[in-house]
Amino acid sequence: MRSRRDFLQKFTATALAWPMIQLNTADSLEKIISQPYQGKMLNVAIMGLGSYGSRVAAAMQDCQRAKLTGLISGTPAKVKEWQQKYGIAEKNCYNYENFDQIKDNPDIDAVYVITPNALHHDQVIRVAKAGKQVICEKPMAVNAQQGQEMVDACKQANVKLLVGYRLHFEPKTLEIIHMRKAGDFGKIMFFQGLCGFTIGDPNQWRLDKKLSGGGALMDIGIYAVNGARYMVGQEPEWVTAQENKTNPEKFKKGIDETIMFQLGFPGGAVASCLSTYAMNNLDRFFLDGTDGFAELQPATGYGPIEGKTNKGPLKQPHITHQTKQMDEMAQIILDNKKPEVPVNGEEGVKDLKIMDAIYQAAQTGKKIELKV
Ligand code: NAD
Repeated sequence: MRSRRDFLQKFTATALAWPMIQLNTADSLEKIISQPYQGKMLNVAIMGLGSYGSRVAAAMQDCQRAKLTGLISGTPAKVKEWQQKYGIAEKNCYNYENFDQIKDNPDIDAVYVITPNALHHDQVIRVAKAGKQVICEKPMAVNAQQGQEMVDACKQANVKLLVGYRLHFEPKTLEIIHMRKAGDFGKIMFFQGLCGFTIGDPNQWRLDKKLSGGGALMDIGIYAVNGARYMVGQEPEWVTAQENKTNPEKFKKGIDETIMFQLGFPGGAVASCLSTYAMNNLDRFFLDGTDGFAELQPATGYGPIEGKTNKGPLKQPHITHQTKQMDEMAQIILDNKKPEVPVNGEEGVKDLKIMDAIYQAAQTGKKIELKV
């Protein structure tokens, strides 16, 4: 909104200073530009009214192209509260038993699945079978096979499957990608991704393998996996990994506390990454090439993302990630817009293939060759 206002102020000032342009020209331009978007909106139901679902719902209130119109939850009290807060009709509210009926609801075009990781597979497939477009949170599933089944189910149902990779629309991240594509950093040689935080409550679903599918790598290390790919601009061909566990009582079997992993790319670039649930102050990407570098810190939080390159600080504006993501995803779904960095199910499967290999490498100590 601010940029539109800035543009109008600048344009009006220019127009007034230029005798050939009449005041009413600027007036009518203001009217045209200030018109709210009149076309088709993407009507979205959120499944899973938890902490991230709440953030997405709040951010969607500022969307131009996407609208929250439905809810899917197992907690009636939460549904009531959200209905009042966001004006959601009773007929657009479902629970986990009856949400297949959404297929008969013309008020809902897409379902955004924001539940614990291990539930995504079955829920996404059910949504696809109900004929609705699907957006699914990261990690899209708990292994690549599940991810591929979800991609196949959505293809078969002729619906799109998108993964909630909000950073693929983040301006400073995109600027680094543009600079890398323009050759500003020369030949890319190295990426470092440090992602972690100290996790609290030992009883939460994130530390229960049945619901999470794994530990820090599934939850936060995935940002380094995904970031390595969009920063380097290639797919890795091998992976090595080492696991460290200091608290086996909290981080039970199948829940990784800390994993260090390395990725090798065609042409010789390497990535060195850390994924952890046991350290704070870790949210940093660093990209190094023969002619320059880029750094983001914080790199993956909700923002503002901060960064610099060898040419100076990155000054792109902060945007609310989830508002931008949902407006862009509405255009991907409704207008077939092609995003600069893919956010489709296939993109999610690529991350899962690498994560499967990281777990295998950490368990066996072997270098795992990859075909992503
Ligand atoms: P949360 O615990 O706050 O919310 C999960 C929701 O799922 C709750 O409302 C819960 O009631 C519901 N749920 C349904 N069935 C459940 C079951 N069997 N057990 C437990 N809960 C159940 O978690 P969250 O932080 O909102 O995470 C949800 C998803 O969103 C995860 O996949 C996570 O990785 C993802 N996420 C993404 C981002 C991002 O920046 N893209 C940030 C946070 C979380």
